[in-house]
Amino acid sequence: MEKKNLDWANIGFNYRVTDKRYVSNWKDGKWDDGALIDDPNVTINECAGILQYCQEVFEGLKAYTWEDGSIVAFRPDMNAERMFNSAKRMEMPPFPQERFLEAVDEVVKANAAWVPPYGSGATLYIRPYMFATGPVIGVKPSDEYQFRMITTPVGPYFKGGAKPITICVSEFDRAAPHGTGHIKAGLNYAMSLHAHVTAHANGFDENMYLDAATRTYVEETGGANFLFVTKDGTLVSPKSDSILPSITRRSIMYIAENMLGIKTEHRPVKFSELKDFEEAGLCGTAAVISPVGRVVSKEETISFPAGMEKMGPVLQKIYDTITGIQAGRIEGPEGWIRRIC
Ligand SMILES: *Cc1c(COP(=O)(O)O)cnc(C)c1O
Repeated sequence: MEKKNLDWANIGFNYRVTDKRYVSNWKDGKWDDGALIDDPNVTINECAGILQYCQEVFEGLKAYTWEDGSIVAFRPDMNAERMFNSAKRMEMPPFPQERFLEAVDEVVKANAAWVPPYGSGATLYIRPYMFATGPVIGVKPSDEYQFRMITTPVGPYFKGGAKPITICVSEFDRAAPHGTGHIKAGLNYAMSLHAHVTAHANGFDENMYLDAATRTYVEETGGANFLFVTKDGTLVSPKSDSILPSITRRSIMYIAENMLGIKTEHRPVKFSELKDFEEAGLCGTAAVISPVGRVVSKEETISFPAGMEKMGPVLQKIYDTITGIQAGRIEGPEGWIRRIC
């Protein structure tokens, strides 16, 4: 199969329409058979639940071309499971996890020419999502939904190596205790856009959100979990019921502990501890790990000893391992790679 002729290293992280998308609709209490379709546009009723009350959940994962030309996905079963749980919390009919995996296979195969070649640093981003299509005006869950899975090629997140970023402590909160911070829903992003734009206007790359109740514990950024490394080399990741359970973070903690002999701790992390850490980073599907060089609050600036030039050595080692597994250069834990074609 002939790959598309794109300048893969420079395509950036933008939506680019590809050939096929997978669609299944929920109507009369059941999901239909689902199909690959050509139309990238969605036509829905003007009173659809997504438009009125934002009933939507989503996922994000990637497909990779390996050196032998085969195409794989990284732990898509984890996305299927998380989306299942997100849907339940949003009173939406969860999409069957086995069908989610079949949809990944189908949509990636149908867009195989768009999966960037091995070694380009680019990947095929897969965006599954589900939204309320049935009309509602009184507040209630909709009775019709669409599950859709689209794909778009994305470039390497960091061109020419990851440069540490500067983060500000947000004046806004992302997620309430007992709220929806732990589910992957567009609503968590809609309300964070103002904080995001404000941070950028003030010259920062990202926000660090603190726990909404006490503002003493570290939560996460708008779309990535935190990782810290202590002076004695322990990998620490904040724990809270309002943090989105990142699959990248869970994979990294497993790799650190079981493949690299790094001690790990998943526990509440006080903001006041930050000054004692050696390295800091963000993790998520998009960038895998982004190094954080500085955190700025109203009172102080915390500069991590790993500096502003490059990723710290512990995070770099973890980064090389997880990206090696995704690219097929390193054998990962059993069941982490789904071979598509
Ligand atoms: C998607 C997301 C992450 C990262 O999760 P991954 O599964 O690693 O991609 C982190 N935080 C939030 C709020 C997210 O929506």
